[in-house]
Amino acid sequence: MLSSLKNKWVLITGASSGIGAAAAEQFGAAGANVILGARRMDKLANTAAAAEKAGAASTHHHELDVTSTQSVEAFISWVRTLTQHVDVLINNAGGAHGLDTVAEGKDADWEAMIQSNILGLLRMTRATLPLLPQHTGIILNIGSIAGRQAYEGGAVYCGAKAAERHITKALRLELCETGVRVGTVDPGMTETEFSLVRFKGDTERANEVYEEIKPLTADDVAEAMVWAASRPPHVCIDEILIMPTAQAAIHKKNTASRNNV
Ligand code: NAP
Repeated sequence: MLSSLKNKWVLITGASSGIGAAAAEQFGAAGANVILGARRMDKLANTAAAAEKAGAASTHHHELDVTSTQSVEAFISWVRTLTQHVDVLINNAGGAHGLDTVAEGKDADWEAMIQSNILGLLRMTRATLPLLPQHTGIILNIGSIAGRQAYEGGAVYCGAKAAERHITKALRLELCETGVRVGTVDPGMTETEFSLVRFKGDTERANEVYEEIKPLTADDVAEAMVWAASRPPHVCIDEILIMPTAQAAIHKKNTASRNNV
């Protein structure tokens, strides 16, 4: 079934690291043309090279800041110079900023999370929709277990991912008549730059997060994305919740498992 992705055009936001970078490589390995966006161009170029090496039909990368409508529109204008259609849109760009309670929350952190996880996804979707082919196109949004379960210090991130979940459902309804499929892939704890960004570059604090249990890898999540995007046109994967075995819920972690795997 992966052969169905050969020569397809796959657009991935937030492809400079973590899950987006792993997805670029795996869609590349499936023979797709990959179009990559993020703010850090040096890292984006590395992802493009890895996707090319993996077997991508072609790779293309361009600066993208999903918090800016102007940047999104410039990005899509550039995409139109490459192709007149995008088969798969992956809204992956996003993340968490800070772990403060609401009482101690910072405006800049709240705004960054709402801008990237909610408004960025909306901007990218609005701009890409005219390029998605009817009856075959796919939008895959990256949500989180945080959109389904709240935790202390996660009010805005959890709220943003809960919004992502409902935006996905609304889009699914809005696009039902077009045959464009819409789904969400919601991971639990995944080892990426996520915690480094959340803790503003504090490596020690970020590493501690991933020492608790054996987390998912970015490749684990990318594999689920490739699977969802390679179903035949009459199959829509509405949602995937993918968790580390040792994390049964946000607050339920088997810390003893760290030594077993
Ligand atoms: P990551 O390694 O920090 O990757 C985040 C990506 O998003 C980077 O490529 C970053 O690129 C990009 N990004 C952030 N803000 C952006 C902006 N304004 N414009 C364009 N790109 C932007 O973390 P990750 O874990 O792979 O995160 C990917 C997605 O998975 C996020 O939506 C995150 O919320 C979600 N998720 C992560 C986990 C986890 O435990 N890691 C669990 C559930 C869901 P630049 O900085 O170069 O722009």
